[in-house]
Amino acid sequence: SGEVELRNVGFHYPSRADVRVLNDVSFIAKPGERIALVGPSGAGKSTVFSLLLGFYQAQQGDIFFDGKSFKDLSLADTRSSMGLVPQEVLLFGGSILENIGYGRPGASKEEIITAAKQANAHEFIANFPEAYETTVGPRGIKLSGGQRQRIAIARAILANPKILLLDEATSALDTASEKLVQEALSHLMHGRTSLIIAHRLSTVRDADRILVLQNGHIVESGTHDELMLRD
Ligand code: ADP
Ligand code: ADP
Repeated sequence: SGEVELRNVGFHYPSRADVRVLNDVSFIAKPGERIALVGPSGAGKSTVFSLLLGFYQAQQGDIFFDGKSFKDLSLADTRSSMGLVPQEVLLFGGSILENIGYGRPGASKEEIITAAKQANAHEFIANFPEAYETTVGPRGIKLSGGQRQRIAIARAILANPKILLLDEATSALDTASEKLVQEALSHLMHGRTSLIIAHRLSTVRDADRILVLQNGHIVESGTHDELMLRD
């Protein structure tokens, strides 16, 4: 399981009925496939994620999860199947261990530590994020973009979703940090259907398929090599 299909999806934000943000968008991500979404800012990539997360409903077409229409699934069902790793990782109050624990309420400390290790995030789990340091706990630490991503990846590993929605960071990471994030991601993505908003060529090269979005339309799709040959 873990198949997602968008079938002829058309969408406009309720506040802006005149702007068609997605137009006749169709694709299938088979279980375990990695599909990259690329295209200019404003093309509609994040909106695809918002629909999959159930933040909005498409006015045209339908979305299917393992063959079932979103119209017949509860928001709780679809949400618990989707794991989002956002571009900007939000950290909450509490230690980093607790932050990772939000991925699956009720998880044991051992389970959280295992997920943290798999995401290369375990050295700093006892610390607090800087903004949330307390007078009683350890001092808060400043976290790099890569460290925050690894925390979000650990959270997602713990949540164990069928479908991953990854919004790649736009800002470049240094080589060492990049390697740690890549290792964490390969752990997370292993065997899972992944939709990736890609800003980097390296991700696109690994994808089973690349969908090029422009003005809410899929204008091209294929593997990295296929798209290169066409241009
Ligand atoms: P990006 O270019 O990385 O997609 P944006 O700056 O376009 O980011 O969007 C950032 C956030 O603002 C997103 O959560 C998006 O949903 C929201 N947003 C973008 N455009 C509008 C808009 N016209 N009205 C309201 N919210 C918007
Ligand atoms: P991308 O992720 O490819 O940069 P988005 O999906 O964020 O594109 O945005 C697609 C279009 O929808 C843009 O024109 C953007 O301004 C608009 N948009 C995004 N979020 C909102 C929102 N919450 N309300 C109204 N318009 C939005």
